[in-house]
Amino acid sequence: MATVRSLISAEQIATRLVALAGDIQQCYGEQTFTLLCVLKGSFIFAADLIRQLPTRVEIQFVTASSYVGTQSSGHVHCDAWDATALRGKHVLIVEDIVDTGTTLRHLQQQLQPVGVASLKVAALLTRTQATAPAPDFSGFALGDEFVVGYGLDLDQKYRSLPYIGVVEP
Ligand code: 5GP
Ligand code: MG
Repeated sequence: MATVRSLISAEQIATRLVALAGDIQQCYGEQTFTLLCVLKGSFIFAADLIRQLPTRVEIQFVTASSYVGTQSSGHVHCDAWDATALRGKHVLIVEDIVDTGTTLRHLQQQLQPVGVASLKVAALLTRTQATAPAPDFSGFALGDEFVVGYGLDLDQKYRSLPYIGVVEP
């Protein structure tokens, strides 16, 4: 495997997550809410985040994909899932990266007819160039580098890296 230059260390991620979880808790107060983990890229972020949150917090999963290699196909595909399970719930979408926002818009469209109680977004990374609406909770800003690690892949590899970085040519 090629080497990966670290951009955000495991320690930086861990520290930021504590603050992010604090902001999320403050926002929801005593309310029960449901994390909607967008697979596959968000699985480590969601697992670390939920362990910083109260035990009443629920979690659901949806598998969405739009990337082939380092390019977005511009077309989002969701594997079969039961959005109606979220009816009446306070839903917090947990995304690895908000880039063009295509994935988020697609999920928001799927959730609209379901009738969720509220819908917010937590993203580990947000591109500074993103044309999408800013997430309600954002971990780190990111330039236009294509990153891997901490759940994020390049053609399904590198997800196990404990930090976030750029694959060196
Ligand atoms: P959007 O739909 O907002 O354009 O793209 C969001 C999705 O594209 C993310 O959830 C992520 O799966 C993928 N993506 C965007 N940028 C990157 C990147 O730098 N690295 C990886 N591994 N995936 C990315
Ligand atoms: Mg994603």
